[in-house]
Amino acid sequence: MRLNVNKLLHTPGKREEFHFTMDLSDLTFGGMHPVSRPVAVDGVVRNEAGVLLCELTAQTTLCAVCDRCLTEFDLPKSASYACILAEEKQFDDNEEIVLLEDDTVDLAALARTAFILAMDMKILCSPDCKGLCGGCGANLNAEPCRCKKETDPRLMKLASLLER
Ligand SMILES: [Zn+2]
Ligand SMILES: [Zn+2]
Repeated sequence: MRLNVNKLLHTPGKREEFHFTMDLSDLTFGGMHPVSRPVAVDGVVRNEAGVLLCELTAQTTLCAVCDRCLTEFDLPKSASYACILAEEKQFDDNEEIVLLEDDTVDLAALARTAFILAMDMKILCSPDCKGLCGGCGANLNAEPCRCKKETDPRLMKLASLLER
């Protein structure tokens, strides 16, 4: 979605809200496509004393897969982003500046980048997920390990030490 900010650019105090949905189902994270539902973007561009500020929030519910126990679960995800829209670079500023092209800004591109940057490298169903047993594959959150208790000789030694 592109927004023409020509009027906003020349009217201090003016603001314009925007709402749209975008499809990010093509994004791959860890070999998966977790953004299977539409992403809703809400935001505003406003002229504050001659400076154009853009703020947006992109949110959806991910079809996430836990990295530890491989369970699929719904994960609400929201990314916020803010920048200044300008016609030319202002080098004396630390703010994030996005350049306008013919007085328009590609809001979908901004929202897409913000959303990607907000994705977590590691997704867990819960911070204390117990994961899968490396031996029997049991999901230790839901069931006990089915491995035979073949005691490791090193552990046996430790156990005997502890028994004393
Ligand atoms: Zn998990
Ligand atoms: Zn096991």
